[in-house]
Amino acid sequence: MTIVREISGHEHEHVLAFRDEPTGLHGFLAIHSLTAGPAVGGVRIQSYRSDLAGLTDALRLARAMTFKVALAELPCGGAKAVIIDHPGLKREAAMQEFGRFVEQCGGRFFTGPDAGITAADLAQIRSTTKYCADETSPELGDLSVHTAMGVWHAMRVCLAAAKIEEPVVAIQGVGSVGMQLARILHENGCDLIVADTDRKKARAAAKEFGADMVSTEEIVSSVCNVFAPCAMGGVLNAESIPTLKARVVCGSANNVLNTPEDGDEMHRLGILYAPDYLANAGGVIRGAEYYLQNRKDSRASIERIAYRMQAVIALSIARDQATSRIADELAEGLWRHPAHRAGRVGAAQITNPSIAAETVQGSSVVPIQSGAPAATREPTPAPPKGVGRPKPRRSNTSERHKRRRRRRPPVE
Ligand code: NAD
Repeated sequence: MTIVREISGHEHEHVLAFRDEPTGLHGFLAIHSLTAGPAVGGVRIQSYRSDLAGLTDALRLARAMTFKVALAELPCGGAKAVIIDHPGLKREAAMQEFGRFVEQCGGRFFTGPDAGITAADLAQIRSTTKYCADETSPELGDLSVHTAMGVWHAMRVCLAAAKIEEPVVAIQGVGSVGMQLARILHENGCDLIVADTDRKKARAAAKEFGADMVSTEEIVSSVCNVFAPCAMGGVLNAESIPTLKARVVCGSANNVLNTPEDGDEMHRLGILYAPDYLANAGGVIRGAEYYLQNRKDSRASIERIAYRMQAVIALSIARDQATSRIADELAEGLWRHPAHRAGRVGAAQITNPSIAAETVQGSSVVPIQSGAPAATREPTPAPPKGVGRPKPRRSNTSERHKRRRRRRPPVE
């Protein structure tokens, strides 16, 4: 029987610690916002150096989820659950117990997979709650595929903005999303470099996509023009940023900046950063549209990530400000907007004249759009030349790109 304790003193609507002695289940649920609808957010499992580290992770991730769903115009709020992994955890029973706890939340929290959660875990959670995404449903589809597709839409806009014609993408972590992203990038003619702490996964990606495999220590500073963090948060920090060779950073990992200042530093160095919660929203868009709006297909909604990326780049250029700051400002503005809070999604952007005006000033860049179905809108920019056509595998990607060094502004 899970014991739940409310933790106060945060800006979040609810922060709960849960614990079940017989199964070893222990973790935190942070519900950041319920103003626009139920709070949605994945559950992750990992070992943390302390309970406080796990709680802090849940708090940060839940806030980012609120920003993610607000920017994606979804009628919901943000949350995140964190399960602390430890040797005494009886995983199967703990997942069932976690499902019971989610069920007790009575629909205020809707969950799905996040880092470390396997298909088997999800099946156990679903056996005791209806408030969990069912990825075995063919209609819903694999959420990591939707996430990866969203990352690609953000990335192709970044590639065009940075005028990168022969993308070499270094993927950190080829798990659920990273592997799907590798597939999409390969199909679109990108060369790949991969690393994973689980070398079997990295080897599988190297074999399937002809990728170069490097160590987890080397991947951040590998010779590439795009770095795609698809593992854990905090990888962009004061130590790692100066070692980046990439001119674009765009991946699926949440909370990838260690501090907000790290976004400023990348902007100063001319590295185009796709804000994490903007780029990785594909999965939550699909989940929310399927469960809350009964939509059969979310491809057009996920493609709109490209429009948002364009708008953020335009504002970043116009204001000479980091893309991460721009995204935070837009997302917070949308979250606080009465239309979003009333669950009237899509109304917020077009009724915000300052955002619309500034975005349009970005000339060639399309403003954030709302209302009409995406399929009837102007097409998003084509991928740069060379992207979109499968290329024959060449022998050594790193060698070929050795001299292709960054240090010029990515957006000209
Ligand atoms: P996952 O657990 O399936 O994959 C993560 C992979 O990263 C694993 O293969 C792991 O071995 C590897 N890894 C861990 N530490 C590493 C390191 N230091 N260097 C290299 N590889 C390392 O998780 P996932 O579902 O693919 O999620 C990846 C990231 O994307 C997470 O940050 C998650 O929060 C975020 N995200 C996932 C989704 C989704 O739909 N699954 C949606 C949005 C955001």
